[in-house]
Amino acid sequence: MSKKTLFVDMDNVIVDFKSGINKLPREVEEEHVAYHGRNERGEPNDADEIQGIFALMDPMPGAIEAINKLSEHFDLYALSTAPWNNSSAWSDKLLWIQKHFGRGPGSPLYKRLILSHHKHLSQGHFLVDDRLANGAREFGERQNSQHIHFGQDPFEDWSKVLDYLLERR
Ligand SMILES: [Mg+2]
Repeated sequence: MSKKTLFVDMDNVIVDFKSGINKLPREVEEEHVAYHGRNERGEPNDADEIQGIFALMDPMPGAIEAINKLSEHFDLYALSTAPWNNSSAWSDKLLWIQKHFGRGPGSPLYKRLILSHHKHLSQGHFLVDDRLANGAREFGERQNSQHIHFGQDPFEDWSKVLDYLLERR
């Protein structure tokens, strides 16, 4: 039987976005904040537009192990949106995948990175995403396609999502 198709978002699903903010060089952060300001939590506004920020981010807990495991049982792709106003994010996302999963054909995500503002155009059984934006909601509205809302009950973390998906492979 052929494998089901599974798409996995990057930011706040595989990639810990906030860890990139915490690792920004101080002068880079200050220069950005001078133009964009800070939010109520004290973080830079529009942090996703800071050049190079995506390269600094750590994996989410359990994400690397989950992707490796799921790639054995699903036709698996990373499906992420790169900010329109941050060209470095488009290459940083590729470099991040290569750094954490390997560059060659042995990587579970080798040539399986899709950057899109229209996730619903990718057809498959599951999309694991922490947001409804950029087509994630529409993806889940299609018949036989499910949006797994990462971070929300009952999909709070990778151990829960992994169990759920492995039962439905
Ligand atoms: Mg996300």
